[in-house]
Amino acid sequence: MSRIAYVNGQYVPHGSAQIHVEDRGYQFADSVYEVCLVVDGKFWDIDGHLARLRRSLSELDIEMPMPESALRIIMENVRKRNHLKSALIYMQVSRGVAPRNHLFAKGLVPSVVMTAKRFDLDQSDEKAAKGISIVSQPDIRWGRTDIKTTGLLANAMAKNAAHEVGAAEALLVRDGFVTECSSSNAWIITKDGVLVTHPKDHKILGGITRATAFECAQELQLSVIERPFTLNEVFAAREVFLTSASSIVMPVVTVNGRQIGDGAPGPITIRLREAYKAKARAL
Ligand code: PLP
Repeated sequence: MSRIAYVNGQYVPHGSAQIHVEDRGYQFADSVYEVCLVVDGKFWDIDGHLARLRRSLSELDIEMPMPESALRIIMENVRKRNHLKSALIYMQVSRGVAPRNHLFAKGLVPSVVMTAKRFDLDQSDEKAAKGISIVSQPDIRWGRTDIKTTGLLANAMAKNAAHEVGAAEALLVRDGFVTECSSSNAWIITKDGVLVTHPKDHKILGGITRATAFECAQELQLSVIERPFTLNEVFAAREVFLTSASSIVMPVVTVNGRQIGDGAPGPITIRLREAYKAKARAL
């Protein structure tokens, strides 16, 4: 069955979907994106994704391309046209097309692209049952990683460096502190059972899954603190896990080849993963 993409008002076969060569998203990464989950036909955390999209666009002074209600309709159409009940919807909005120039031209029409791919809340269960290995990498990204732009080269380089040594993710370290991972937020659980994650500031992307994991942790009566932490605190942690829309809550079992806790996915992380899934299914 052929995949369908949405490009600037049209639903087209994925393989022949096209964007102009002078789209600013292509030339300057002058574009933002969201990856949203649909669980059993229902959008999950959609308000958070659309709020973040609006914020990313506003930080870059790009117009919202259409009302949120219209974006929701297109997302739903893309899901249906791809015959998916549960899906990951990729949505990208660029400033638009203009002759190449660093200066922003006025009055551009934003380009909007959406694609869908299969997703299942359980698809990463096998990986989560074993836990993943990650390695640290220097965080060389720009100073506004809170804006979800498509300028992901430093993230991609870090993830590739991690893969080259057999690790699944890169744990990014800036000025001696862990910020997040190349495509997920990083968490530790201290020896006294406190969940710690970097504050939501300009140095990290405020993950939507991070926010929901926060709620789940509070519902489980776990204590959560937002503060920067060091690599040494990671090595000493009882548990380490990552959050992102595609991997939800993912246990980490080794960091830089050093075992975390007893080297197996930790019980608190497993509870949190289950709580997150239950919340998404109860929608
Ligand atoms: N941090 C970075 C750098 C990311 O790219 C992502 C997801 O793409 C996340 C965190 C997690 O964000 P979310 O939970 O909204 O998927």
